[in-house]
Amino acid sequence: MTDTDRRTFVTGAALAGVAAAVPAAAQNGGAAAPTSPAAAAHPKPPFPVQRQPWPGLASKMTPRPDHGEQSYKGSGRLAGKRALITGGDSGIGRAAAIAYAREGADVAINYLPAEEPDAREVVALIREAGRKAVAIPGDLRDEGFCRKLVQQAATQLGGLDILVNNAARQQTRPDIASISSQDFDDTMKTNVYAPFWLTKAAAAIMRPGAVIVNTSSEQAGDPSPDIVDYALTRAAVLNFTKAMAKQLASKGIRVNAVAPGPFWTPLQVSGGATPEKLQSFGGSSPLGRPGQPAEIAGLYVAAADPAISFSTGQIFGATGGGGQPA
Ligand code: NAD
Ligand code: MG
Repeated sequence: MTDTDRRTFVTGAALAGVAAAVPAAAQNGGAAAPTSPAAAAHPKPPFPVQRQPWPGLASKMTPRPDHGEQSYKGSGRLAGKRALITGGDSGIGRAAAIAYAREGADVAINYLPAEEPDAREVVALIREAGRKAVAIPGDLRDEGFCRKLVQQAATQLGGLDILVNNAARQQTRPDIASISSQDFDDTMKTNVYAPFWLTKAAAAIMRPGAVIVNTSSEQAGDPSPDIVDYALTRAAVLNFTKAMAKQLASKGIRVNAVAPGPFWTPLQVSGGATPEKLQSFGGSSPLGRPGQPAEIAGLYVAAADPAISFSTGQIFGATGGGGQPA
């Protein structure tokens, strides 16, 4: 046997071993084989017990989420675009903000005042990419603020080509008796009313070629019993995406959605999941771990990319092998 033969044989044997081992490991909630060199470094459960007051900060999570700060490379796919991203301070929204800026877009982010430390990091990253950054804190549960947000973003960016309705509230409750009317109202206002108000304000000023990208979830089609109010909002957003895509087609405005599975973000450590669920978070997905926000940024770029101009009313998924909601 030559050295090359030996290497081929050893590699082949090792791969066969991995292939045989993966399903069992994944079934046990253990580690599946990495799907890319970068994915090999992404953390897997068990995670350290942690809890932050809502809305939570990415900068205080252990381990810190990877939003693509070191890895995302742009290629001009959104050159000259002007985007507003709600919940752009952390998690999936931050990953989208970094990617959009590196793809050539100017970016406004909205977040709650308590999230200013996270927002400052994002503003610095957008500016490092050579793009304009606009920070507009405020509470999306207020209709007047939603209208002002779209106006201010458009004024400061010089127009609006992309709206990303990404902010959301998720607070776990064991049963329906423990979901108060205030809880229900806060979840609906943040997750359904705000995208409605923002879409209404944006559609009034957007030009042909503009895109609205909504964040839904695998929860839209396969709801967990302990986030009942949240899950129904993700289904509402999915439906809203498809209806608005049809309605806005005549104006040349596309409407798409991204549906994440489990992602390692502040939403989960600030009341979105119980501490027990958090420890094994993502472990039951076929990839055996939660996604990192960096791993979904490309879908937000794709959803808004003018190159895929025939795609509207589409749902782009990143669930780690779980089901796609639509
Ligand atoms: P995140 O906590 O980083 O982002 C949520 C953001 O929502 C916060 O940063 C906050 O700025 C914003 N927000 C909440 N209430 C607000 C209010 N009243 N006013 C203004 N802003 C408010 O968490 P994330 O997981 O990145 O969440 C982003 C989106 O991803 C959400 O739509 C969520 O439903 C969706 N999602 C997340 C997961 C997951 O496992 N993390 C899975 C599926 C879908
Ligand atoms: Mg945040």
